[in-house]
Amino acid sequence: QHLSLSLNSTTTSFPTTHDKIEKPEDTPYFINNEFVASTTSEFIDLHDPATNNLVTRVPQNTDAELQAAVAAAAAAFKTWRSTSVLFRQQIMFKFVALIRENWDRLAASITLEQGKTFADARGDVLRGLQVAEAACGAPELLKGEVLEVAKDMETRTYREPLGVVAAICPFNFPAMIPLWCIPVATITGNTLILKPSERDPGAAMILAELAQKAGFPAGVVNIVHGAHRTVNFLLDEPAIKAISFVGSNKAGEYIFARGSANGKRVQANLGAKNHAAVLPDCNKNQFLNAVVGAAFGAAGQRCMALSTLVLVGETKEWLPELAERAKALQVNGGFEEGADLGPVISPHSKARIESLIASAETEGAKILLDGRGFKPAKYPNGNWIAPTIITDVTPEMQCYKEEIFGPVLVCLTVDTLDEAIDLINANEYGNGVAIFTRSGPTAETFRRRIDAGQVGINVPIPVPLPMFSFTGNKKSIAGGGASTFYGKPGVNFYTQLKTVTALWSSADAISKKADVAMPTHN
Ligand code: NAD
Repeated sequence: QHLSLSLNSTTTSFPTTHDKIEKPEDTPYFINNEFVASTTSEFIDLHDPATNNLVTRVPQNTDAELQAAVAAAAAAFKTWRSTSVLFRQQIMFKFVALIRENWDRLAASITLEQGKTFADARGDVLRGLQVAEAACGAPELLKGEVLEVAKDMETRTYREPLGVVAAICPFNFPAMIPLWCIPVATITGNTLILKPSERDPGAAMILAELAQKAGFPAGVVNIVHGAHRTVNFLLDEPAIKAISFVGSNKAGEYIFARGSANGKRVQANLGAKNHAAVLPDCNKNQFLNAVVGAAFGAAGQRCMALSTLVLVGETKEWLPELAERAKALQVNGGFEEGADLGPVISPHSKARIESLIASAETEGAKILLDGRGFKPAKYPNGNWIAPTIITDVTPEMQCYKEEIFGPVLVCLTVDTLDEAIDLINANEYGNGVAIFTRSGPTAETFRRRIDAGQVGINVPIPVPLPMFSFTGNKKSIAGGGASTFYGKPGVNFYTQLKTVTALWSSADAISKKADVAMPTHN
């Protein structure tokens, strides 16, 4: 049964199987707290990645519909901006509670549309929920500063919202990434137009319903759909003051350039190639489990997936054991009991990943574990690739240079920690990195010298919790990393400072002559 999106409905039934949906419903868009069917004739078919059955059709919103969303958000901003942060905090508390209540429903939508396992989809929701929870602390984060700068004179700052802001989201975290944006953008007093990935907007639609139920006034949270046309509209619309983007370099570099050229603030988190350096003194068992989980979990479709292993010294001898553990993972439909990883998002993505594996073979690497051609018996039509390990990789190979974004681990070998650091620093991406060692000084040297934004010490996927910020580096973030998501920098991104200087002098001015020199503040 397809999930019901009716606002008045109290039903919480949702699909927990990959069975064919008899009558797939089109995905509506969400404006002024209402779900509306698009009048477009252009739809994007969305297929369950485990079966390639049609789940829904996602509209390419018409220009008139996109303009209506901007008008709704602009109208709502007039009153929303002057609500108190404590008022907004109360709504956020309710939003948080509703996400918890609808946790499984959100996760089921993710498994159906995106393909990741149900347990992993619950984690996707949790990581977003934590951002909403942290956003409840906004009263503290929005405090300004004040200083008496001269006799009878003080300067103080206020953090004010920007206005209408927009978010453009990727397919791989259908709940978490919208939740990097909705809570922080709105609690700071902005109104939002969010475009989920056209490949899996279901979780964002449920979040819209929960936002309405939590008490967000009409027009504060709006969801529109589509691909490039919608993105271009958001980038060019003058009423939109800021763009939050998470996705690939191809789209993100373009979005950053065009949005910035149009005078908007843009934060853009991009692609990755995350390395792990493995030292012989590490806890071998912990390392093996950590890397297998972080390389193949979510079928490698995480921006923080640990996709590249740098084996230092004799640790290369551990490869057969690593392959054994990877081989033991169960690849299956995400709703199936015991599934460790699901399919990749589309037949196109599967073909791209397979061609990168083939290129490695052609370029002289070895396929230690080959996941091509695997099919779970129950789902012969899905986009399957089982865990794949490529060894003898060198930095010139295509499989090393490109983000694979699939269940593929590429392995390189070096003799020393210094070589490992040089190799990793020469890579153009700098999202996450990990080191496995029991030595404090070794970890400290690595931490100091490594050029990556998020470092794990015996932690394979060091995604910062929302009291910190998501701090990618190098090509993994646009604009030199000046604007990062969530945490204090997230609040800074969605607000601008107003700085007020006031003179309240009790003594009457006695001089009859204007002072034309710069004040000295003595
Ligand atoms: P994507 O770039 O294909 O799509 C992201 C969004 O951009 C979608 O909403 C899509 O409609 C839009 N888009 C795509 N191509 C466009 C174009 N040419 N012009 C305008 N808009 C376009 O990314 P994806 O495949 O959905 O997501 C996977 C990518 O996202 C990976 O590269 C991954 O590393 C990255 N990612 C990064 C982070 C991070 O925080 N650094 C987090 C998650 C995902």
